[in-house]
Amino acid sequence: MSTTISGGPDRDTIVNLTADIFARRGAESYLGEKVTMSEHMLQSAALAERAGAGDELIAAALLHDIGHYTGEFPETALAEGIDNLHEIAGARVLEPFFPKLVVDCVRWHVDAKRYLCATDRHYFSRLSDASVHTLRLQGGPMSGDEVETFRAQENLDAIVAVRKWDEGAKVPGRSTPAFEHYAPLLQRVVDRHLAGATT
Ligand code: FE
Repeated sequence: MSTTISGGPDRDTIVNLTADIFARRGAESYLGEKVTMSEHMLQSAALAERAGAGDELIAAALLHDIGHYTGEFPETALAEGIDNLHEIAGARVLEPFFPKLVVDCVRWHVDAKRYLCATDRHYFSRLSDASVHTLRLQGGPMSGDEVETFRAQENLDAIVAVRKWDEGAKVPGRSTPAFEHYAPLLQRVVDRHLAGATT
């Protein structure tokens, strides 16, 4: 398996690159929410950690929105009505380094919202206004057929768990550990995955 994206990061630089993105871009607003991008992603990771999740799920929660920084469209495009498919972009940049569980949680976190809206009566009422707006752009709640297909996901429980932490991670002013707290965990997940992939 290749550990580089052409001209991009490798296993020794991927965590630093992520840290750099958080540092340089983290203060940007999170799609109309009252938290910044880095506050949102750190709150997601902190919720996962507090729930006793393992390294991979904490990594997924931390990185679920990283695709906002890799797409061709600026973040504001989503607020203007264009879905920038950040979940696909995010999965693509993480795939060379992270295990399938992490990549699946990132790739399917938008569909997980559509799934939960179709299957959990209380879930929709907990969505923020911005999340209701993007739900429309993302296709609305899943149809019965879509729900059946989604339910067959190998990592369904993890995907749904990350989605719920994502939804809960929009609280202005909530304090969390800094990115640096999670850096060793990320490196551990990358190293373990790449060691397994090459032996
Ligand atoms: Fe999010």
